[in-house]
Amino acid sequence: MPSSLREVMSRFATGVVVVTVGGEHVHGMTANAFTSVSLDPPLVLCCVAHSAVMHGALSASARFAVSVMAADQERVARHFADKKRPLGAAQFTSVDWRPGPLSGAPLISGALGWLECELTQSHDSGDHTIFIGSVLEAGRGDDAPGLLFHNGAFGSVEGADLAQRRVRTLQ
Ligand SMILES: Cc1cc2nc3c(=O)[nH]c(=O)nc-3n(C[C@H](O)[C@H](O)[C@H](O)COP(=O)(O)OP(=O)(O)OC[C@H]3O[C@@H](n4cnc5c(N)ncnc54)[C@H](O)[C@@H]3O)c2cc1C
Repeated sequence: MPSSLREVMSRFATGVVVVTVGGEHVHGMTANAFTSVSLDPPLVLCCVAHSAVMHGALSASARFAVSVMAADQERVARHFADKKRPLGAAQFTSVDWRPGPLSGAPLISGALGWLECELTQSHDSGDHTIFIGSVLEAGRGDDAPGLLFHNGAFGSVEGADLAQRRVRTLQ
């Protein structure tokens, strides 16, 4: 069953984010199990494996940040999913970033958007924990193609093509 769930879910195309925490537990992790939960109040969630270093870092932090990856940031997404990367601040030396003013968590330069969040709830579910954050601040980067994850591979969402198909509620 787990392998068939993985196979089916790999056909569900998602965007890609890097979740970060700052301070004593500074850390970053690539994630696609990320979504908005509520607009009013603004809430988002991210599912993190119990085995991930990020699980302990998030559990110990009151605030975190999310950077939405652009199509040209595949290298960054691969870096924060690479188990051979160094721990702590050293993992950020190969990327441009700035500290989030409200969270202190690294905001990755060149991202399509950023969120700074207060951790409000966490729910253990299976081998992951669902971390829910209340959005404190949101910022947009350039209108560039987004990084896509589909069928176990990175791709890109071409903005020009999608502009023709814009959904009315988002206009
Ligand atoms: C497109 C994509 C989407 C993904 N989405 C998600 C998602 O939504 N949720 C999710 O949970 N995962 C997701 N992953 C997987 C996740 O990005 C990787 O598993 C990532 O490596 C986890 O990061 P981590 O730092 O938290 O943990 P790890 O990779 O386990 O650890 C990071 C670093 O810590 C070191 N380390 C670990 N334990 C110790 C120790 N005891 N002592 C010393 N050093 C140690 C490791 O060697 C490594 O350098 C995704 C991956 C990809 C490619």
